[in-house]
Amino acid sequence: MTHTVTTGEVLMDLRGVRMSFTGAGGEPLQVLDQVDLQLREGEIVALLGRSGSGKSTILRIIAGLLAPTDGHVDYRGTPLTGSNPGAALVFQSFALMPWLSVQDNVELGLAARGIAPADRHRRALAAIDRIGLDGFETAYPKELSGGMRQRVGFARALVLEPDLLLMDEPFSALDVLTAENLRTELVNLWATTDFPTKCICIVTHNIEEAVLLADRVVVLGANPGHIIAEVGVDQPRPRNRRAPGFAALVDHIYGLLTGRDTEIATATPDSATPFATPLPDASVGGIAGLLELVWGSHGRADLPEVADELNFELDDLLPLVDAAALLGFLTVDSGDVILTNVGARIVNADIQGSKRIFADQARRRAPLVRTICSALIGSAEGSVRADFVLDLLRRGFSDEDARRQLELAIDWGRYGELYDYDTDSGRITVDPAADLSADR
Ligand code: ADP
Ligand code: MG
Repeated sequence: MTHTVTTGEVLMDLRGVRMSFTGAGGEPLQVLDQVDLQLREGEIVALLGRSGSGKSTILRIIAGLLAPTDGHVDYRGTPLTGSNPGAALVFQSFALMPWLSVQDNVELGLAARGIAPADRHRRALAAIDRIGLDGFETAYPKELSGGMRQRVGFARALVLEPDLLLMDEPFSALDVLTAENLRTELVNLWATTDFPTKCICIVTHNIEEAVLLADRVVVLGANPGHIIAEVGVDQPRPRNRRAPGFAALVDHIYGLLTGRDTEIATATPDSATPFATPLPDASVGGIAGLLELVWGSHGRADLPEVADELNFELDDLLPLVDAAALLGFLTVDSGDVILTNVGARIVNADIQGSKRIFADQARRRAPLVRTICSALIGSAEGSVRADFVLDLLRRGFSDEDARRQLELAIDWGRYGELYDYDTDSGRITVDPAADLSADR
């Protein structure tokens, strides 16, 4: 796990970057805290983190599409004001103009930079050729496969001959084989001597992709987004998932993503608030499935293996792990998950027993569930308006996230038979079977 020695000239320098958006209730929502990041000539850097850790926000700040709330952003030693002249972006969704041909899509960025038509034409043809779309110049996006469309996305960025190629999950909308194919081609292009781009920064939530591509992996945590660690990848190219050391690196990064510095609850249940400790986006069924799988492997499992077995990506698996850890069903230790005693009990309980254990744990350890239970205890009617809870949540979450948090809390509380949501009245109501007043 040696750090790559990077001696190239600094292209991007981010120091003390913080970012806040305005939440649905008008309060600031902090999404990035104290991000220090340098991108240098000659390197491929991966920004890796789960959904919501601020990866796209960092990329947009580097591209100059967003100005940070605080901190400094320099491009080649000069403060960035407005759109970054050295950067070009590739998006997950390709973002092509459906009414323009491949050729015109690729020329678009050149036109914006005021380049003469004849020159645009020539340069677009060369970029199209370089990215393997020769012969498709007159095709329209809808006539192309996903992989071909993303090639257009690449050509459109490369035609600008950017210093810095910024890519936001460029392979995640593609099928596995197409993605692998394009990754290989990207690395091959990078290796050609006349490739004009000096640095590639790729956003991903896929650990293997990061280790396959990057010289350096910047690992991000959430709430708010921050850098947990940087990991140098000293694997020789071309890289191979089965090469010695590859799996160990993936494991190491799993450990970082689930370690102490992340939001996985080293839960201090009493002080945790619904804002500081949001409910992980996990269904009760998903949590139960994970626990069974860990039980099945004798109470301890390696996360990369679990992901493999379930054919899950990071974004699918980590919320389940977070939720199970928050609820005290398992602990996480350097990339392994270990079932706790309570975890073992719930796996082996009958359905009523499992609901009871779930309810107890959720009431004690899941802050939003606890908040709702307290509100119910305090209400004369044994019910509260869901809108009231939603308004509270909007003080710390975007509207979408606030709604999702409420949905999760209702899902969890309903399973534990603590409370239920009545669509007609729009109220959350104590479950008749629940004993909320009991001191537990
Ligand atoms: P990632 O790319 O890692 O999934 P993002 O950078 O897209 O993360 O988002 C980080 C956080 O910022 C998320 O919680 C998201 O809801 C929030 N966010 C992003 N853009 C906005 C915006 N324009 N307004 C409010 N919140 C935003
Ligand atoms: Mg994103």
